[in-house]
Amino acid sequence: MALREIVQANHPALRKKAHRVTSFDPKLQTLIDDMIETLLDAPGVGLAAPQVAVSLRLIVVRLPDDEKSVEEFGAEAGKLYVFVNPEIIKASKEMVEGVEGCLSIPGYIGMVERHEKVTVTGQDRKGRPQRIKASGWLARVFQHEIDHLDGRLYIDIASDVWEARPEDQETAAE
Ligand code: ZN
Repeated sequence: MALREIVQANHPALRKKAHRVTSFDPKLQTLIDDMIETLLDAPGVGLAAPQVAVSLRLIVVRLPDDEKSVEEFGAEAGKLYVFVNPEIIKASKEMVEGVEGCLSIPGYIGMVERHEKVTVTGQDRKGRPQRIKASGWLARVFQHEIDHLDGRLYIDIASDVWEARPEDQETAAE
């Protein structure tokens, strides 16, 4: 495993529509392992392949597992989600505003409206179908990461963006 460089907001990879993954070969497995390592090292709660300059539809998501997060998110805290070719097939009408940051836009956070709940389908790292119903923060992270696969950044849709204090960065980094 190796850390990959997280590219920053002006990088063209962040603005492309990423390609579907069609081959679950060793190269993909290495990419997934590297992305997990990079996410944990950052640290962040989500990372999409375009953020490491790979134009593929692949995301990794992991909410923190500190005591407060375990209390709030239960079994979702610290659980690692690897989604290949993720797709939102259902989204709640209910929208919620929340604060987001992005590992590709360090130093800033913003207020973004997202669906409160989403159902995401896709494949796991071996190509087997999987599905998740996510709500709250987890749903927000999935929407943020899937946006990356279509070349969209949260600053495109945020109602407000401002400079983060150091303590804000960690939990909001996607
Ligand atoms: Zn991001």
